[in-house]
Amino acid sequence: MKYQRRSLLKLFSLSILAPLSSTSCDETTPKKLPKVGLQVLTTWRHPIATNKALKSLIRGKSLSNAIVTGISHVENDPEDQSVGFGGRPDADGNVTLDACIMDEAGKCGSVTYLKNIKNPIEVARLVKDHSPHVILSGDGAQQFAVRMGMEKEELLTEKSNNEYQAWKKEGSTFSTKANIENHDTIGMLCRDHEGNLAGGCSTSGLAFKTPGRVGDSPIIGAGLYVDNEIGASTATGLGEIVLKNLSTFLVVEFMRNGKTPQEACIEAIRRITKKYDFKNDQVGLIAINKNGEIGAASILPGFFYSFRDQNELVVNEAVSYYN
Ligand code: ASP
Repeated sequence: MKYQRRSLLKLFSLSILAPLSSTSCDETTPKKLPKVGLQVLTTWRHPIATNKALKSLIRGKSLSNAIVTGISHVENDPEDQSVGFGGRPDADGNVTLDACIMDEAGKCGSVTYLKNIKNPIEVARLVKDHSPHVILSGDGAQQFAVRMGMEKEELLTEKSNNEYQAWKKEGSTFSTKANIENHDTIGMLCRDHEGNLAGGCSTSGLAFKTPGRVGDSPIIGAGLYVDNEIGASTATGLGEIVLKNLSTFLVVEFMRNGKTPQEACIEAIRRITKKYDFKNDQVGLIAINKNGEIGAASILPGFFYSFRDQNELVVNEAVSYYN
């Protein structure tokens, strides 16, 4: 029950891109942020989305814009069967989507159980910027999206439908497996030149879930949390575990108490494994702080993250609690 040394070394090699030491200063000196430039960190192997988000920041777009640009790319991709168009359906054969976004001003928007709208992250942004609410769900979320000019579309692709039909034939057993074999849910954290932070998260949830089920991804503090004074974190894996632990809020609180993003992710994973025996279920956490230091950790091996700054793109496996 140890963190894998090899993966730790791999992760620490990232320090070339993201310095791991903070600027030390006393109470009276204004804090100077290290010049690490623009940064994008995402869950899983999402190099194109990560690149797109960075390009958007380079073009001078807002953090929210970069997040919507990057995440929409994955939502539009029918080959990604965990997010948006082409996502695997619930047990009734409906594709239902969850997403949220939180910006540097602490504004957030979220949609849950959204049907027939390809880009839930865009709807979440519209909730954040054009409604007095934080979460809109189901039919109400869909009506809001349509009122805001978005189109209704069929999201179930032939590929996902074939898998669904096969699952029904095989006896319709629900699996909580949410790892490399079947998951690409995207959580994305962006940092600008001034150290401002924002994040987003989008998923079609667990394949063949119980109709009505909402996971962690659209819940602020569970699937995503951003505190512009401290840092940001997003989660992937079995949402039920993340919801029970409010894991991303916890990661940010650990960073507030002085931990690096890497230490904070490890400590939040350790907290989960202390409370529950989750040897077969995956949770992956990523985090970034104001200085541009990053972290990633998971319960099981096989959780990858993508990181991009203005020099380089890195896709790496996170340290895991179990080997
Ligand atoms: N966390 C998502 C959910 O439980 C799934 C995932 O990240 O893969 O809906």
